[in-house]
Amino acid sequence: MEDVSDILDPLNEAQREAVAAPPGRTLVLAGAGSGKTRVLVHRAAWLNRVEGASPFTLMAVTFTNKAAAEMRGRIETLLGFSAAGMWTGTFHGLSHRLLRRHWREAGLTESFQILDSDDQKRLLRRVMRLLEIDEARFPPRQVQGYINSRKDDGQRPDDLGEGADPHTDRMIRIYRAYQEACERTGQVDFAELLLRSFELLRDNASLRNHYREQFRHVLVDEFQDTNGIQYAWLRMLAGPEADLFVVGDDDQSIYGWRGARVENIRRLTDDYPDVRVFRLEQNYRSTATILKAANALIDNNSGRMGKNLWTDGEDGEAIMLYAAFNDLDEARFVVDRLREAIADGHARSELAILYRSNAQSRLFEEALLTHGIPYRVYGGLRFFERAEIKDALAYTRLVSNPQDDASFERVVNTPPRGIGGKTVDLIREQSRARRASLWDAAEQCLQERLLPGRAHNAVTQFLALIQALGEQVTDQPLAEAIDLVIKGSGLRELFARDRDDRGESRLENLDELVSAARGFEQDWEGDGEMDTLTAFLAHAALEGGEGQAQDWQDCVQLMTLHSAKGLEFPWVCLAGLEEGLFPHRMSAEDPDRLEEERRLCYVGITRARRRLLMTWAEKRRLHGEERWCAPSRFISELPDDLIHHVRTRVSVSRPAMAIRRGLAESHEMADSGFHLGQRVMHPKFGEGVVLQYEGQGPSARIQVNFDTVGAKWLVASYAKLQGA
Ligand code: ATP
Ligand code: MG
Repeated sequence: MEDVSDILDPLNEAQREAVAAPPGRTLVLAGAGSGKTRVLVHRAAWLNRVEGASPFTLMAVTFTNKAAAEMRGRIETLLGFSAAGMWTGTFHGLSHRLLRRHWREAGLTESFQILDSDDQKRLLRRVMRLLEIDEARFPPRQVQGYINSRKDDGQRPDDLGEGADPHTDRMIRIYRAYQEACERTGQVDFAELLLRSFELLRDNASLRNHYREQFRHVLVDEFQDTNGIQYAWLRMLAGPEADLFVVGDDDQSIYGWRGARVENIRRLTDDYPDVRVFRLEQNYRSTATILKAANALIDNNSGRMGKNLWTDGEDGEAIMLYAAFNDLDEARFVVDRLREAIADGHARSELAILYRSNAQSRLFEEALLTHGIPYRVYGGLRFFERAEIKDALAYTRLVSNPQDDASFERVVNTPPRGIGGKTVDLIREQSRARRASLWDAAEQCLQERLLPGRAHNAVTQFLALIQALGEQVTDQPLAEAIDLVIKGSGLRELFARDRDDRGESRLENLDELVSAARGFEQDWEGDGEMDTLTAFLAHAALEGGEGQAQDWQDCVQLMTLHSAKGLEFPWVCLAGLEEGLFPHRMSAEDPDRLEEERRLCYVGITRARRRLLMTWAEKRRLHGEERWCAPSRFISELPDDLIHHVRTRVSVSRPAMAIRRGLAESHEMADSGFHLGQRVMHPKFGEGVVLQYEGQGPSARIQVNFDTVGAKWLVASYAKLQGA
């Protein structure tokens, strides 16, 4: 018998049983931090070592690129060799790989491009304009949501019954026209990746059999968040015979709004009646205090599959709760605690700030920048989504495929070259009338001299430029090709002319793009399915720059709660725990959505290993509007004895406040009489908000952000400030 002690020894009894389960259908249903992901990794190694499965017969699926990369690394470490043949990735990434391999069978063009969410909206707008549909009545965002959720349910326009009501009929019409536009221009949106590869396997028996034969072992992490099409995709690929190993936690299902179905867990047991269910109950991640808080919170949800979670670890520190005066004060407080943690010897990457919505990152970023602390924001506006990067990539795409309408539209007049809205409208009209791409329509316009003289020349030059670039980049290595495109397109010049910081940072980003391409080229092994450029463009669309840029640097981690799934950090701050923000305003009224918010909070709390800080702000500026906030109901659902309140807010007279502040803020504010976030009045500058306070006695200084002149430092004793 092989020595498997390295696989089994680091596991507890329940984990071992799951890892060593005989091939078949296996479900591990267990709470946060109980070792599900660890079990999955060890299972892969077990299959290889004990069942003799070659890595080539393994497929492992998870939800984020970060998690997929980590999983692969951990499997390889256990195996002791590089498992190059193994398919690990996200549902989208693996679907994409299938479609590249079998583009012909899938009815795609060889150089098909991936539309990210932004491109998709742009294309939708164009389609709606052509159909003369009013954007006010059919907001593109809603239409986009409609189309994507139809695709997530596996539905094509023909599957949707028309005639129910005029509104739905319109939606179906837009869906159909949008899909035609995608087909014509060789573009595939995110939802399409999955649906298309599902249909490919469904309709092509020989391919289906081939892959079922190949992937005899399918492993899935975070199963609770699979949606309809992902589940169907898995079943199609695994078939009735596969060795299917899925792990999940119903309490962490947080993508219901995107069509994820917790019921898939129940469905699995219906679809595979022979499924073996394992439960893990010991949590290895968090202190007893953190775990108790998480358990108490989630206990407020109904209809749970019911799990026990315990730890034999130490109690650890109380959860710190800070009631901030406003969002600025919140950011300042959190970053001060971060600095202490760093001074205590924490690596920056062990520290995470988690929040409900992307917009919350900005103030934290500013506070971190002020103190020169490197940080990294996951999600949000990612590297490849920045305007200048999208411009450069659009040029690159157009150069490699002139039929790409979305790219054509994006760059036809960037930098400005005298091709105005009217000219583009005319080209669009031609494209519609002739059912041709914008590129072909533009050529027609030139041949038939449909454009006025100046526009004619400008368009001629534009087409010539793209063609010339096409010739220049042929046979160039990827990074050189992109560099040539950036220079030749005039983008570099355009941003170089921008003398302010923005232009500067855009140029830096363009340089970063070239080095990203170089790095990609070095790592890209090539699988014969795509050329490097196509692979890089797909990588840009699918990964959005996660794992890009300065990955080596030790950074504080900022991300939304959704992107934190599956991860863990020694030190976590959950920020913005306010009614209306978290739980989100839109979810508070609906019991199901409220429970999903609570699960999201459960995910947040259970990311923390040793220390948890929670914050809320009494006043917050959100979407340009300042609002008074109440603490989140989730706070009151936590046992009070687990919480250390850093400051409770009561209105008190100044001296009393100074004493109280003295406790919370050490000496800082003790003699100022003002508190952070307070609105104050200055005889010259008018009204403003107190940002910071420094020093003591006569030399104490106070920083106020005035409505009129912005932030200013004043000597407190001379400032003649009054409470506003
Ligand atoms: P989540 O639900 O958040 O995804 P999970 O169930 O996947 O959590 P893991 O991430 O696999 O949990 O494990 C949580 C932590 O506990 C990890 O740091 C892991 O290394 C550790 N761990 C898991 N099992 C054991 C064990 N038997 N002995 C020691 N540490 C363990
Ligand atoms: Mg996990």
